[in-house]
Amino acid sequence: MEKKYDYLVVGAGLFGSTFAYEMSKRGKKVLVIDRRNHTGGNIYCENIMGINVHKYGAHIFHTSSKKIWDYLNQFCEFNNYINSPVANYKGELYNLPFNMNTFTKLWSDVITPQDAQNKIESQKEELKGIEPKNLEEQAISLVGKDIYEKLIKGYTEKQWNKDCKDLPSFIIKRLPVRFTFNNNYFNDRYQGIPIGGYNVIIDKMLENVDVRLNVDYLKNKEEYNNLADNIIYTGMIDEYFDYQYGKLEYRSLKFETEILKDIDNYQGNAVINYTDRETPYTRIIEHKHFEFNESKGTVITKEYPCDWEVGKEAYYPVNDDKNLALYKKYEKLMNEEKNIIFKGRLGSYKYYDMDKIIEDALNLVDDLMFNMP
Ligand code: UDP
Repeated sequence: MEKKYDYLVVGAGLFGSTFAYEMSKRGKKVLVIDRRNHTGGNIYCENIMGINVHKYGAHIFHTSSKKIWDYLNQFCEFNNYINSPVANYKGELYNLPFNMNTFTKLWSDVITPQDAQNKIESQKEELKGIEPKNLEEQAISLVGKDIYEKLIKGYTEKQWNKDCKDLPSFIIKRLPVRFTFNNNYFNDRYQGIPIGGYNVIIDKMLENVDVRLNVDYLKNKEEYNNLADNIIYTGMIDEYFDYQYGKLEYRSLKFETEILKDIDNYQGNAVINYTDRETPYTRIIEHKHFEFNESKGTVITKEYPCDWEVGKEAYYPVNDDKNLALYKKYEKLMNEEKNIIFKGRLGSYKYYDMDKIIEDALNLVDDLMFNMP
């Protein structure tokens, strides 16, 4: 029997929406389904008092790829927001990422880049000659002990609920360390927030695509599989396989959003990180500053990291050896499945940035069109 759709896309996030847009542009019939009551996955924004509130955590788009930048610009215009978070350690404020502003504020005898380098050298003596094996050693070897103690240890251990000695060093390598007075959190060539919020992009991508919301694919698998020849699944892979080898570990987040009608500027910056161990949240986001919004009132969100359990949203995969070995077992099962491809951050169990997700979706479209013209 001929099926109604060429592709069923499970998950209306950035991967699923990019894929659906590209395939329907090529004349394929695509159905996108999502169990939430909205599209956009974790980049979804809710408009509160004219402010685009990042409902599932702050997203700042950045990329070094001109191709991906130009690609997204067909759906929206970006503003010139540059992410420059500030760290609050027990009331002391420091610029991030780690740069000359941070170093000169922290060390009163540091004035020049050479002073800062000498200071860091003197603070990593004990690591001389050893290759950093974990996040703690990596961090100390990059920025020295003082910065590790005040700006990294507490924040990281809250975020991952693990000792920095038990975390992989690649996590901290996401952050630049600079010996210039430059507070840009990213090194990428292109950066910004879509004017009008991320929904502008997703709405345009899905304009001509069939979408069904509040739909649980895993509970109605047969019914949905009968609708399409091929399936793109962007949900959690361990859940898809009924956790048969056990659960993969994820970090979840709890967001506490406050609408402050009588305060126009709560913290003077979009992102303030609380880097001590005792404050239970890792950061406070003041959403209006992402879009230079000068309206009355403000909306802030406190972000609390927590363990993931069934029923909560999974935000970060915990890419340590134990979990990667378990993922490999699921990968074997994935390869045995017919007519289904597992993708996106959850399907791939990877700490992906948005630009990589788009690139991956475009590559998949190319591969499929090449193999099945
Ligand atoms: N990090 C840190 N202190 C900070 C901000 C970041 O030590 O004030 C480290 C920490 O190890 C964290 C990693 O950098 O796990 C990435 O943090 P970020 O907040 O940039 O990640 P996101 O959640 O935004 O992807």
